[in-house]
Amino acid sequence: MERRTFLTLSALTASSTLFGISEEIDSKVVKRDSNSLVTSLLKKLIIVQNQVGYVQFNILSFDDLLKVASQCKKPLQPSEIDFIESIFYGDPRKYGFYGERTVPNLTIVTPQKDVVYMDKTGHFLMKGAATEKFAQIKRLIGPDLVLTSGVRAPVKQLYLFLKKMEYAGGDLRRTSNSIAPPGFTFHSVGDFDIGKAGYGQFNFTDKFQETDVFKKLYDGGYITIRYTSNNPYGVRFEPWHIKVTGGFETA
Ligand SMILES: [Zn+2]
Repeated sequence: MERRTFLTLSALTASSTLFGISEEIDSKVVKRDSNSLVTSLLKKLIIVQNQVGYVQFNILSFDDLLKVASQCKKPLQPSEIDFIESIFYGDPRKYGFYGERTVPNLTIVTPQKDVVYMDKTGHFLMKGAATEKFAQIKRLIGPDLVLTSGVRAPVKQLYLFLKKMEYAGGDLRRTSNSIAPPGFTFHSVGDFDIGKAGYGQFNFTDKFQETDVFKKLYDGGYITIRYTSNNPYGVRFEPWHIKVTGGFETA
C-alpha cells in the first residue's frame, strides 16, 4: 500500500484496477473525466445551435441533434450519448432534485404545428393553454411584458443543464438547484418564463420581484407559480416561471 504515495495521478488512473485507488482520488478522476465530456458536448451543441438557429434549437429533437452534429462533422460519441441518457433516464433524487418527470422519452418530437413563434422573442409557446395564458398576462401587464423562455425540448434543456453543470464544476446538486434536468422541465410541456422589458438578466434574479410586472401579476391573482420558495422539488424560487400544465399530456 505504501507505494501508492509514489504514484502520480495519471499512473493511478491507468493502474486503478490493479491497485484499487482511494475514493478521494477516484472521485477526482471521475469528475475530471465528466467535466471534459461536458465541455466537449457543449461545444458540439453550440455548433448545432449555430447551424439550425437559436429559435429552432429550442424545439430540436434528439434524433435531429445527432443528424445535424454528424453533418457538421462533429458526431456525438457513444460515451457522450451514454452520458446524456444517464442524465435523462437516471433518478435525479440521487442528487437532490425531486421534481416530477415531464417527458418520457429522450427522442420525443415537438411538432412545429403544436407551437407558435412569439414575434421578436426568439421563443415558441405551445398552442392552446400556454398561448392563452400568455395573452391573458399580456392584457394585464401591457408592453412591459416579455417572454424570456418558452418551449424547451429535451435537447435545449440539456444544453442549459450542461452549461450550468460546467459552471458548477460538475456538481449535479448545485446544477439541478437552479435548472431542472432534461426530462424534468415543464418548459417541455407548456410552462414559460416572463420578465420586464429591458430588464435583461435581472429578470432571472430576486430583483424581478421588485418590478411592477411582478406586482401586477400577483395583484391579478390568477398566476400560479411553479417553484415557490421552500418548494419540495429542490429547485430555487423562480417567480418568473409561469405554470401552465400539471404534467405530461400525450395529445
Ligand atoms: Zn422556467
